[in-house]
Amino acid sequence: MNNILLGCIADDFTGATDLANNLVRAGMRVVQTIGVPDGPLDAEVDAVVVSLKSRTIAPDEAASQSVRALKWLQEQGAQQIYFKYCSTFDSTPQGNIGPVTDALMAALQTDFTIATPAFPDAGRTVFKGYLFVGDVLLHESGMQDHPLTPMTDPNLVRVLQAQTRHKVGLIDYKVIAKGPAAIQDRIAVLREQGVGVAVVDAVSNEDLMSLGLALKGMPLVTAGSGVAIGLAQNFGIAPNLQAAVLPAPQGFQAILSGSCSRATNLQVADFISTGRPAFVLDPLRLADGSTLIEQALAWAAPKLKDGPLLIYSTSQPEHLKQIQDKLGVKVAGEIVEHALARIAQGLVEMGVGQLVIAGGETSGAVVQALAMNQLQIGSQIDPGVPWCAGNGIHITLKSGNFGTTDFFTKAFSWIA
Ligand code: ADP
Repeated sequence: MNNILLGCIADDFTGATDLANNLVRAGMRVVQTIGVPDGPLDAEVDAVVVSLKSRTIAPDEAASQSVRALKWLQEQGAQQIYFKYCSTFDSTPQGNIGPVTDALMAALQTDFTIATPAFPDAGRTVFKGYLFVGDVLLHESGMQDHPLTPMTDPNLVRVLQAQTRHKVGLIDYKVIAKGPAAIQDRIAVLREQGVGVAVVDAVSNEDLMSLGLALKGMPLVTAGSGVAIGLAQNFGIAPNLQAAVLPAPQGFQAILSGSCSRATNLQVADFISTGRPAFVLDPLRLADGSTLIEQALAWAAPKLKDGPLLIYSTSQPEHLKQIQDKLGVKVAGEIVEHALARIAQGLVEMGVGQLVIAGGETSGAVVQALAMNQLQIGSQIDPGVPWCAGNGIHITLKSGNFGTTDFFTKAFSWIA
């Protein structure tokens, strides 16, 4: 039997990669699986990240998939479980962060865990329980316009309390600044007060390293990917370069973007401004049963040999809202995800071997369509976004708000 140290469950594919990336940077050998594997793990690693696509499905279904992942990770010997969600705490009042946390706590028979999406390297900081994205609060960051999980309240204690059966508390920055022993003391006090989940402040990597030490032996940790940087030290592992080496990239280069986040809109505009080819997918035409998918592939075919091209549905909030009003949020999302997944298959058939995917849900749909079951994690292009390899393809899964404005061009020069 394998004896992995850390078993992770991520609620979407880009998030899983982001977490795997941080674990690799902390020196852990990591495999990311797509879904819960059927059999035992076939790799010598320190941590496994099971990627689900459970962020926006029904809460009961998200809980049961997560518990299934937990059981598999326990079978691989996992000593600690990490439930990973988005660094912008993407969820609705129904879930799924609260319901999945509740289900994992019940399955692990534990009465306490922490929750923090803090990831200072990517500009996500938590202060007095309020989540900042860069210099602004969550609800001013563009996340208030997210197609599936609009975030309109930056107070994470309130947001989480609406979703969980457990009482939610706070470990604030003053406690964090005092170090691991003080954090553990605070946890003991909160437990006595009946708190089951504590939101944790963190504004720097030092905060996350202190928190990491305080979390030693805690059966369940729930967090964005940031907390991962502080956990490897508990297992006697230090950063090393070996884990991040990937095979040489091959094949043509393409970008598929189904993210409508603010950062992705800027990245799409930047790529187009370089004069490189770009094809827009109109969801209304897709919904009409047009041959837009075939048209996109026929458009791409002769251009692939000349370098990277972009196929995108990325829209500004006003336009997105018009489409959602006409089609419904769910239907619009599914139509676009299906189209981009089908286009990814077509591009790979035409010899594309290097793919940049923008959007968490979009990435999930593409990776499933390409039947990629296991990804090896390479070096990061930008915080939270590494190149990965699997099935002979190099792929990077960029969550909506990640990456610098020139990310789409930078990604390819990174592995050139
Ligand atoms: P992000 O990481 O930015 O949140 P996701 O891919 O997770 O991106 O989510 C974006 C969602 O919006 C997907 O379900 C996608 O199919 C949908 N979508 C993308 N473009 C459009 C559009 N033009 N109109 C409506 N929905 C869209």
